[in-house]
Amino acid sequence: MSKTIAINAGSSSLKWQLYAMPEEKVLAKGIIERIGLKDSISTVKFDGRAESQTLDIVDHVQAVKLLLEDLLKFGIIQDYAEITGVGHRVVAGGEYFTDSVLIDDEVLAKIEELASLAPLHNPANVDGIRAFKEILPDITSVAVFDTAFHTTLPEVAYRYPIAEKYYQDYKVRKYGAHGTSHYYVSRQAAEMLGRPVEDLKLITAHIGNGISISAIDGGKSVDTSMGFTPLAGPMMGTRSGDIDPAIIPYLVAQVPELENAADVIDVLNKESGVLGVAEASSDMRDVEAGRASGDAKMTLAFDMLVDRLKKFIGQYFAVLNGADALIFTAGIGENSDQVREAVVEGLSWFGMKLEPGKNVFGAVGDISTADSKVKVLVVPTDEELVIARDVERLKA
Ligand code: ADP
Repeated sequence: MSKTIAINAGSSSLKWQLYAMPEEKVLAKGIIERIGLKDSISTVKFDGRAESQTLDIVDHVQAVKLLLEDLLKFGIIQDYAEITGVGHRVVAGGEYFTDSVLIDDEVLAKIEELASLAPLHNPANVDGIRAFKEILPDITSVAVFDTAFHTTLPEVAYRYPIAEKYYQDYKVRKYGAHGTSHYYVSRQAAEMLGRPVEDLKLITAHIGNGISISAIDGGKSVDTSMGFTPLAGPMMGTRSGDIDPAIIPYLVAQVPELENAADVIDVLNKESGVLGVAEASSDMRDVEAGRASGDAKMTLAFDMLVDRLKKFIGQYFAVLNGADALIFTAGIGENSDQVREAVVEGLSWFGMKLEPGKNVFGAVGDISTADSKVKVLVVPTDEELVIARDVERLKA
């Protein structure tokens, strides 16, 4: 039995999950938050226990050291030699990475070069990769790209209607994101439907804090709502999603505290979406509670989110010219029967009908009626498992 760690490094956080492979058993998982700030918090969950500690962690190397020491301390492993592989989630793979790869110096340099496409994420991913290389230099090290699954998009979908030179010379195109999630839930859905994914047209709705919707034809991503960056698509927890780009220079000109485009993009990423409209929270549980008690802003945020979700799903019915199933996943998609009900109700013309007794909290699998032309499925996503599996696949 070998042990593999799946790593998801953010600029100030590092999420990890340790698997026994090939059994795919989760042995432990955890998160280190506030890296580089005072009072960093590390949480380790294993055997039904959760152990948290607060200390100052200056960088990702120290974070990786701490997590490995904790694995020993809590007896989750007896020796570092038990860990034979690590898989790193990397946000931007550009047009270059169409699949997961073994990481060597050349790959690492390429991921660094692609940082211009994901300035907040790729450098953090590189930090995570370097930290493991330093501490466990001999284990299999794999990069799994958020964008790889969407490299099958046809040119009509990935090109923006702007002059070709911006694409050719500056690489401005749709890259998408959440690829591992769309990949995983589309395969799971095919299994649940008992049909080969190659025969299916699927619309996958990853609705968490970040939201992306994809059109998947015969197992291949043919369109997706995130764009050049993850700011595009339906409104999200704190991101605006699609807006008229002319708003950006207008706000720079009109709002004293917004000095340049980067300031506005920051607002659009961090203070917009559900948070911008609801004001009190970006969390869908709060929004649903507020809506239930008649709060006007929370109700508007809910209704706007449902409106934007419906429009993107509707678009993808058009892209695919019909669909066999709509799949809900991620925090909201998996847990909010209210969002699912409002979205599906509003798209009933497309041939979807929910079975009321099935669209409940905790539901997994088919939640549509037997005669629903388009099936509606809840499929819990598992991006870490895809990462661990890719480490196994590339180890051989
Ligand atoms: P991230 O994009 O950060 O990974 P998640 O996929 O964890 O996000 O989704 C977070 C969202 O899921 C939050 O808006 C949260 O409110 C929502 N969520 C989690 N549980 C529930 C629930 N029981 N009902 C409604 N929304 C939920």
